[in-house]
Amino acid sequence: MLVSSTHPKQLQHFINGEFLATQKTFRNISPVNGQVISDVCEADAATVDAAVKAAQAALKGPWGRMGVQERAALLHKVADGIQARFEEFVAAEVADTGRPVHQARTLDVARGIANFRTFADLIKTAGTEVFQSESADGLGALNYTIRKPLGVVGIISPWNLPLLLFTWKVAPALACGNAVVTKPSEESPSSATLLAEVMRDAGVPPGVFNLIHGFGGNSAGEFLTAHADVDAITFTGESKTGSTIMKAVADDMKEVSFELGGKNAAVVFADADFDAAIDGVMRSSFTNSGQVCLCSERVYVERPIFDRFVAAMKQRTDALQVGYPGDDGVDMGPLISHGHRDKVLSYYRLAVEEGATVVAGGGTPRFGDERDDGAYVQPTIWTGLPDSARCVTEEIFGPVCHIAPFDSEEEVIARVNDSDYGLACALWTTNLKRAHRVAPQIEAGLVWVNTWFLRDLRTPFGGVKQSGLGREGGRYSLEFYSEVTNICIKL
Ligand code: NAD
Repeated sequence: MLVSSTHPKQLQHFINGEFLATQKTFRNISPVNGQVISDVCEADAATVDAAVKAAQAALKGPWGRMGVQERAALLHKVADGIQARFEEFVAAEVADTGRPVHQARTLDVARGIANFRTFADLIKTAGTEVFQSESADGLGALNYTIRKPLGVVGIISPWNLPLLLFTWKVAPALACGNAVVTKPSEESPSSATLLAEVMRDAGVPPGVFNLIHGFGGNSAGEFLTAHADVDAITFTGESKTGSTIMKAVADDMKEVSFELGGKNAAVVFADADFDAAIDGVMRSSFTNSGQVCLCSERVYVERPIFDRFVAAMKQRTDALQVGYPGDDGVDMGPLISHGHRDKVLSYYRLAVEEGATVVAGGGTPRFGDERDDGAYVQPTIWTGLPDSARCVTEEIFGPVCHIAPFDSEEEVIARVNDSDYGLACALWTTNLKRAHRVAPQIEAGLVWVNTWFLRDLRTPFGGVKQSGLGREGGRYSLEFYSEVTNICIKL
């Protein structure tokens, strides 16, 4: 049931250009100290239906007739709006997730802005294909493609990079002329709610951007995926949730794009620039407390440098500053929630049962203050596990990596590829021939050489196997968020 309200005192839904409350709410808890940050309205099926109807109506209104230039200008205005409230977005991300403030500034909010600017510019310059075909009468035909919006796109996003991943889908969906019904994670609802204010203030027409809050199963997420009038679902989250959503949309044959889990590898060859590799693997293991889908939880190091590499990683890991998001020099905040901390700690215990040597960390830090009620864990390194161990095959999504030695290129390629996942891999080598030889043999959607998480937003992004379905980024996003129609004219 919807209750009208002009100003959100709690985090509310945003439907048809207005903030709206529902009676049922849930609590948004700080992972830093366990305190309540806000109450969040939970959408029921009727609320989701209202959002979908608003989106359908928007497609028939001024938005549906708006030209590409005007749409792109509006998206730049949204980017300007985020820029103008930059520190509010930083505060929202930090409050929900506990991540270091400097990360929220340089990665999360900066990328939120870049997502809108990039897709606004891409859609202005994107062309389509034309083919001149031959025909039996010799006169031929002209084939050209046009791009139309898909319609109402449902966007479901996770908590690990809330604004970055949310806008990664909202921006191209709107650039292509769709109307969206979005559901951020229940763990990180704040920045998306702020974005709704920016959308309204930028003049995005009512119903074009709708936001509903809630959980997944038997809540807002499921109501959205099951709604018959939603034309496509784009989802980022766990692989098993992707599989559940796939079943939910099967009867309606909705278009889907899935960006899912990973168990990514980093491979360090003996000829690597040692210091650069240490810096890179520290980043790829511990950025955002290991809660980036691209993080490397499996590290393979060529045997001649293995002991030195493990020792250097231990020294750097022991020195990581875990603490308050705003503290000077802090490297790592807490995990997203107490529930996720329990999951990560269960793997810390399992690793010992499976026979791991705990090289660094392995438990929870003690602060002697309110942070002991937060969701902190220690950054952790293991060695000594077989490749078949659950800790080496299952996604943990925490600040942890297992480091194993290898002896040959062929061997390490086989071990990297022996995974149900295939999202990303980072190779560290100064041998250019090796880099070109190995990179294409890795079964993953993204392979970095001598870097990690360096993203050009025009390039394809996505995973193979259980790490995803389809690609987004650059023209791949424009293709997913459009209904491409071929028109064939007989000359
Ligand atoms: P999750 O799958 O638990 O939840 C993601 C979103 O889906 C949330 O908004 C949640 O409410 C919703 N949801 C859950 N069940 C649903 C259902 N039955 N129907 C509809 N919606 C449902 O994932 P998470 O824990 O929020 O995020 C962490 C996971 O996301 C990790 O596995 C990580 O690897 C993955 N991830 C992947 C990428 C990528 O680009 N490949 C990026 C970031 C995170």
